[in-house]
Amino acid sequence: MVLDTLGRPVHDLRISVTDRCNFRCTYCMPASIFDKDYEFLAREQLLTFEEITRVARAFVGLGVSKIRLTGGEPLMRRGIENLIAMLAEIPGVDDLTLTTNASLLARRAHRLAAAGLDRVTVSLDSLDDTVFRAMNDVGFPVADVLEGIEAADEAGLAPIKINCVVIRGVNDHTIVPMAEHFRRSGHIVRFIEYMDVGTTNGWCLDDVVPAAEIISRIGEVHPVAPVEPNYVGEVANRYRYTDGWGEFGVIASVTQPFCGDCSRVRLSAEGSIYTCLFASAGTDLRGPIRDGVSDAELEQRVAAVWSRRADRYSERRSEVTFRRRKVEMSYIGG
Ligand code: SAM
Ligand code: SF4
Ligand code: SF4
Repeated sequence: MVLDTLGRPVHDLRISVTDRCNFRCTYCMPASIFDKDYEFLAREQLLTFEEITRVARAFVGLGVSKIRLTGGEPLMRRGIENLIAMLAEIPGVDDLTLTTNASLLARRAHRLAAAGLDRVTVSLDSLDDTVFRAMNDVGFPVADVLEGIEAADEAGLAPIKINCVVIRGVNDHTIVPMAEHFRRSGHIVRFIEYMDVGTTNGWCLDDVVPAAEIISRIGEVHPVAPVEPNYVGEVANRYRYTDGWGEFGVIASVTQPFCGDCSRVRLSAEGSIYTCLFASAGTDLRGPIRDGVSDAELEQRVAAVWSRRADRYSERRSEVTFRRRKVEMSYIGG
């Protein structure tokens, strides 16, 4: 086990398998920037599945037990089931999950589960079709996402978490219907405060709906009470409906930062590690891997990066920090 400079262990590895996506969510990959001329990573720049698995093993050696595949849209990476099978075999990985926009989930859920995936998190920002189509900016319908969620449930990739990014004036009027739709389903909606990730989405503080407001809007309709976290470092604050019909979460990274317990590390699709979602630079591992570094040396390198870590961006967020150059969410992985 290795600790960073603030005494935090590393538990959670998020692997971005592609920087490409078939959506253009306005808060993540604005279409005006991620257009037909945008230069995505070339195939040879991406880590292979074998290379990803080596990095994952190194992190598991340092204490990682949870792995999440993300992107970009992870289901756009060809053969992702093969990677899942390779990661599922690593001793010590007890939670293997994937975050997806669900556009390709309905036809893939069974194969993902068969490969060894434990659960999925599905992003869905509104149940109002007009609002959702505008937010994903490619006109993708809500019904198809719900179909994906159903298929994942049938395949046993449950309990399913539903990520909903809330943006003032865009989808905040659809928070309560979203909570109501899922509250009896066994799936857990997590309302996420809109974050200043990257530099292309034009984020400003006025766009953020504070978690406290989200909770009170739901609580006005269905009384709620806080629930203890499942484990130290859980990013969502949990609330249950007092009538016993389920729970939801809020991820308050802007108004109630949780850097103190942050045990997450990210691996970009081209093989750099980032110790914070808001980092401006990572540490390249692809070069050393392709130069023939041994497993022991690889583990030493990642341990050295983690032990130097001092990140606490959200606790220091200010006018100055959010204007800094930062990597994009679609590149680093959500
Ligand atoms: N494409 C997949 C998806 O959307 O589920 C995985 C990658 S996406 C970058 C991961 C998560 O990050 C999604 O739930 C998305 O809503 C969230 N996200 C992206 N940009 C965000 C932002 N600026 N603030 C908060 N969450 C954001
Ligand atoms: Fe794609 Fe996910 Fe970003 Fe939306 S949030 S553009 S689905 S990577
Ligand atoms: Fe972790 Fe960085 Fe987010 Fe803080 S800002 S919780 S250190 S990823």
